[in-house]
Amino acid sequence: MTLQHCPACDGNGGRYAVTSIGNGFLRCGLCAASGQVTQEQIEQYREGQAFRVEREGREEGLRECAKRLGVSPTQLSRFERGEAKL
Ligand SMILES: [Zn+2]
Repeated sequence: MTLQHCPACDGNGGRYAVTSIGNGFLRCGLCAASGQVTQEQIEQYREGQAFRVEREGREEGLRECAKRLGVSPTQLSRFERGEAKL
């Protein structure tokens, strides 16, 4: 299987961020911090992104949308980041 550059973290495996518990490295959930993903993961990531753009275009909130679809906001959020299927 050919691995490709992770589009979510730009191949860096994650990013540094300031969080409520301090500064830290947030591991990329899409590539599990490896910086590389499969073609299937890239397609899932694009699908999630397109879904979020469409949802935001409808001005529908994450929680509202999750409720409508009958999934948890966490599940929906992971789907939009390409990390899970619905
Ligand atoms: Zn990544």
